[in-house]
Amino acid sequence: MKYKIYADNAATTRLDTDALHAMMPYLCVDFANPSQEYSFSDKAKNALSEARRVIAKCINASPGEIYFTSGGTESDNWAILGTLPASSGVGKTDIITSEIEHHAVLKACDEAHKRGHRIIKLPVDRCGITLPATLENAITGSTGLVSIMLANNELGTVEPSRELCTIAHQRGALFHTDAVQAVGHIPVDVKKLGVDLLSASAHKFNGPKGIGFLYIKEGTDISPYVFGGSQEFGFRAGTENVASAVGMAAALKKSCELMSASAEHLRKLEEIITSKLDYASIDYLRNGSSDHVPGILSLSFKNADGEAIFNRLDLMGIYVSTGAACDGARLSISHVIKAIRSDESYAPGTLRIALSRDNTEDDAETIANALCKILE
Ligand code: PLP
Repeated sequence: MKYKIYADNAATTRLDTDALHAMMPYLCVDFANPSQEYSFSDKAKNALSEARRVIAKCINASPGEIYFTSGGTESDNWAILGTLPASSGVGKTDIITSEIEHHAVLKACDEAHKRGHRIIKLPVDRCGITLPATLENAITGSTGLVSIMLANNELGTVEPSRELCTIAHQRGALFHTDAVQAVGHIPVDVKKLGVDLLSASAHKFNGPKGIGFLYIKEGTDISPYVFGGSQEFGFRAGTENVASAVGMAAALKKSCELMSASAEHLRKLEEIITSKLDYASIDYLRNGSSDHVPGILSLSFKNADGEAIFNRLDLMGIYVSTGAACDGARLSISHVIKAIRSDESYAPGTLRIALSRDNTEDDAETIANALCKILE
């Protein structure tokens, strides 16, 4: 029997139809360049400001602290590479990050290393948590930036960002968090977290692909990232992607409004899958912490081959992931599963099921039955 069940929502999500409808006028009708001075640009200009206002409200920021980017990767690169000149001038040249960051952060840190910066990658515990004590032990007066994600894309683990941020600030370092898997899924309040910089990406919360934002706390010393026109307060040049900004705002507003109902629904779906696996006495470990992004299940099956399970599910029309989605072509044990020191009899059999509010209880039952069939 072939189904079509998309359960890889940490890789990307379906564009929400309300978001699509909100975008349409700015593609075909009110398509003017918002930077032009004639009245035809007014609607585009207003739509852009309104999108910035809506997004800011969703994370408790001010509109002037939201900078539109091309997505999570650009936001992460900008946060890390854009703060290098600021920190190196005062001898705060080290960057602290964690072993389980997305490659958008890790590769940006590699680039910073090539430019002469020392990079310290903190280990995590077996749930994927960067413990505040680990940061306390590693941070020094030379640390300029600490970049630790808010939620991990493979495990769903939510990090103790507020505590980590406090430690960074006590030592005079900036704090950036990659919140790509968190925004729209769990409450995110930049004031409560205290962060200086926060990255987000629209396509992870039912917005369009190719747009995201970087929150930059007012007064943060950061360099412009893309040079050219004076868009984005002179910090990120290029004609604005008005339609996508509008779509991102509509999608984020809806995700925030539906957040608690979605979380409850997703917890129920998780429960259906795990209880069916338990009932069938399948030997597996659930990775990650109890405080996790609703709907993300990282499961490691004993003496199993994750690639083989993935292929069998694909043939049945069930789409999951064997590791981080951006690494979809690589089926080796991911750096995240290695970092949590998963037992070697379980690690190769790791799958990530990432459910969304679109998934139904039937989907969860079908996924669980398919897994039981394959694994039994
Ligand atoms: N950071 C995390 C945690 C992610 O999961 C992803 C995408 O998978 C990114 C950054 C990159 O985001 P984007 O695809 O918008 O460039």
